[in-house]
Parts: sequence; C-alpha cells; structure tokens
Amino acid sequence: MIQPGAKFLRKIAVVGRGTAGSLAAASVSRLHPDPDHELHHIYDSRIPVIGVGEGSWPSLVQELHQLTNLRHETVQQRLKGTRKYGVTFEGWGRRHRDFTHYFTPQQVSYAYHLSADMMEELLRESTRAHRIDARVLNIARVEGGAEVEFEGLAPERYDLVFDARGFPRDLHPDRHIDISFIPTNTAVIRRCPAIVEARKDGPIMQHTYTRAVARPHGWIFIIPLTVHTSYGYIFNGDVSALADVESDFDAFLETDGVSEFEQRAVIRFPNFIHRRIYDGAVARIGNAAAFIEPLEATAIVSAQLQIGMVLNIRFNRAIEHLERDAPVVNRFLMNNMLCYSLFVGWHYSCGSIYDSKFWRRARDRVWPQFRKAADPEAVDCAALSRFDDMIELLHRPVIDKADWDRMCGVPLTSYAQMSQGLGC
Ligand SMILES: Cc1cc2nc3c(=O)[nH]c(=O)nc-3n(C[C@H](O)[C@H](O)[C@H](O)COP(=O)(O)OP(=O)(O)OC[C@H]3O[C@@H](n4cnc5c(N)ncnc54)[C@H](O)[C@@H]3O)c2cc1C
Repeated sequence: MIQPGAKFLRKIAVVGRGTAGSLAAASVSRLHPDPDHELHHIYDSRIPVIGVGEGSWPSLVQELHQLTNLRHETVQQRLKGTRKYGVTFEGWGRRHRDFTHYFTPQQVSYAYHLSADMMEELLRESTRAHRIDARVLNIARVEGGAEVEFEGLAPERYDLVFDARGFPRDLHPDRHIDISFIPTNTAVIRRCPAIVEARKDGPIMQHTYTRAVARPHGWIFIIPLTVHTSYGYIFNGDVSALADVESDFDAFLETDGVSEFEQRAVIRFPNFIHRRIYDGAVARIGNAAAFIEPLEATAIVSAQLQIGMVLNIRFNRAIEHLERDAPVVNRFLMNNMLCYSLFVGWHYSCGSIYDSKFWRRARDRVWPQFRKAADPEAVDCAALSRFDDMIELLHRPVIDKADWDRMCGVPLTSYAQMSQGLGC
C-alpha cells in the first residue's frame, strides 16, 4: 500500500519510556514502511516511570501480538499477566448489590492484567531506535517539524515528536481542561502475594476481573498478576487524611485475608485533558496528554488510540493535508478523553453503600459539575451531547437495533451494564 506521508517522517523522536513512550517507540518501529527511518528514543533515567498501569482493555491483546510478533500465550506469560474479562464493582451505587462490567462480547473478549515493567521490557525488544539518556528541556514546533532542546546536548530537529513525559508539572486553564467532576486525586499502592498461580506449561486461562471495592474514603482496586496482586486505595487527599486511609486499607486487607504487603507508593494525580494533544508535529501521549483516575483503566487504551491515530494520519495522508488534519485529530482525541471522563465520573453519581464525607461530596457536589466542566463552548468538542445521548438511550423503553453500536468513549453495552448495576 502506498503511504504518501511516510517520506515526510524520516526522523521521529519519542520522549519518555513509560508505558506510553514504550508503546509509541515500538509502534514506529513496527509500522514505519521505510526501514531506513531514524527513531530516537529519549528518556531521562533519573526520572522514574509511574509503572502502575496494570489493567487494560481488549484492544491491547491484539496490539501487543502485532507489535511483538509473539503468540498471545507468550505475550501473556512475559507480562506475568492474567486475562481480564471486566471489572467487578463491590458496594457501588444505590442498589447495594455487587455487579460486573464485562467487556463485550461477555466472557469472550478479554484484556490483560499486566506488569508495567514487563510490558516496557517486551516493547523495548521490538523497538529499533537510537537511545538517548538525557533530560529534555523543551519541545517546540518549528517550520516543518519540531525541535527538542536537551540539557547538555545540542538541539535536534524531528519531523514528528511523541511527548510521553508523564504528568504536566502544573495545570493552566488555557492549556488544560480541568476535569473537576472526578472526586479523587491520590492513590496508595500496595503489593501483596499472588492469588493466582502461574503455570509452567502455559498462560493462566482462568477468567479474572479487576475488583473495584467501594470504601468510606473512596475505593480500592485489586489486580491479580501471577507474580503479585496489586492493591490501590484511590481517594481524595484534600478530603481524607492519609493516616485514616492507611488504617482503612489495613482493615480491608485483613478482611480480605491478606497478612503481608509491601508499601509501594503514594501518588498524587491530576484529572485533566490537554487542549493541544496533537498539533501536526508534536503529539502528547499517555499521562502527558490526559489523565482520568484509574477506575476504568482508560490510560493505556488512550495512549494506544493517540499513537495509532497520529501515525495513521501521518503515514496515510499527503503532507498538504497536515495543517487541516491536525485540529480534526486533536478534537477527536480530546473528545474521546472527555467521553471517558464523563463515563468514569458518572460511576460516582449514585453514591455507594457508604454515607461518608467522601461519598456525599462525590455524589452531591463534585459530579453535578460535569455540565459546566464539559460545556462545548469551554472545551470545543461535543462529548457532553454524546454522553447525554447515551443516558437518553438507556431511558428509552426500547433501544432500536440501529443504536446498539453507539459509543461515547465506551460502547452502549458498557453504559447499560453500569446503569443496571449502579441503579442510575
Ligand atoms: C494509581 C494509578 C493507577 C493506574 N492504573 C492504571 C491501569 O490500571 N490501567 C491503565 O491503563 N493505566 C493506569 N494508570 C495510568 C498509568 O499511569 C499510565 O497508563 C502509564 O503509566 C502511562 O504513563 P506515561 O508513560 O505517560 O508516563 P510515565 O510512566 O510517567 O513516564 C514518563 C517518562 O518520561 C520521562 N521523562 C519525564 N520528563 C522527562 C524529561 N524532562 N526529559 C526526558 N525524559 C523525561 C521519564 O524518564 C519516563 O521515562 C494508573 C495511574 C495511577 C496513578
């Protein structure tokens, strides 16, 4: 197939080697039609990666197979992974009963629970790049491309730069959409012994689920890998004291039968979407582009979409279209992130079994801000009306077959399962 844009992508940089940067570098290596392209994979080894992205969506299964050329079974074993068929919600909503949000088709489609370190290693093996360990001071669009400024090295010019440097240092309303209707901003991460046993002769076939358990200060995720089980308490550091969260975490682990754990990290995170994810020469990806708390594990799948869209459009469209394509791609990516945000924020709208300060605030004060925050005038995309359409569909006595495939970030089936489970 002729890819007219490829000859204008001779020299590409990926900055960052977290999950997003590793995926981008492997994607360029695998998808570039010209083997003589130049790829620089740049990172600062003094700045650690986040390394806690352990839940994914089904598209990752196919993508890792394509990027690595390895069998699915091998990929899963290399990731120390298990097969994730969905998320089980415990204590969420007003119905006071546990339920599962399955990937569709239910019990067929699966994603991975994976070790982020192992994924980075796997992707590195599939990447052909010149690696540069240096701090990047600035990435700026210049005539016909982008320039990367380094600490202690001469600047370099590239045709395309993927900026995967992680969370922005500060948020500014001109540059970022503040997703103020998400009520959490901090995570405590603990690692506990594995609850699924690795097999020597093949991957674990057992169906597993991420557990999302409501707690008085927020919720806890439980992700089973074959090397350990990852637990994370997600809460709001401005509402609950860390000591109270830790003590509730201890109590939960005790009732869950976990007697030992390793404390891994306390991570403060922003919920935001960058207004300029892609400008034609610089593509922000992963946590540099947007972040939504991990309730539906939307970060890796978002990075996949960002990388896939940008490479596709740059390889397949003639260079004359670049200036016109860039804002369209940017709006599509922003819109998609805002749809994910609305879907995730809506999970809090019916409260939980706890009538605590966190849950009252989340349900009564934080979620109701979604209309103002996602106002099309303020965000320059139509996510809010797509979200309203999904909710309207759920309230119809009969959903027409023509509407079954509608999406707002995730498919209608996901909205329907959550609506039934939460009771809203
Ligand atoms: C509590 C929690 C749970 C999560 N769970 C999930 C989940 O289940 N599923 C999911 O999909 N996602 C999850 N995520 C999101 C997860 O963080 C991302 O999927 C993933 O880690 C993407 O990170 P990243 O690659 O964008 O950035 P990072 O991992 O932060 O990597 C940044 C990279 O940029 C480099 N860098 C930074 N600054 C510079 C500089 N100036 N110069 C050169 N290099 C630089 C660093 O060296 C590093 O290599 C979770 C996040 C949190 C906080």
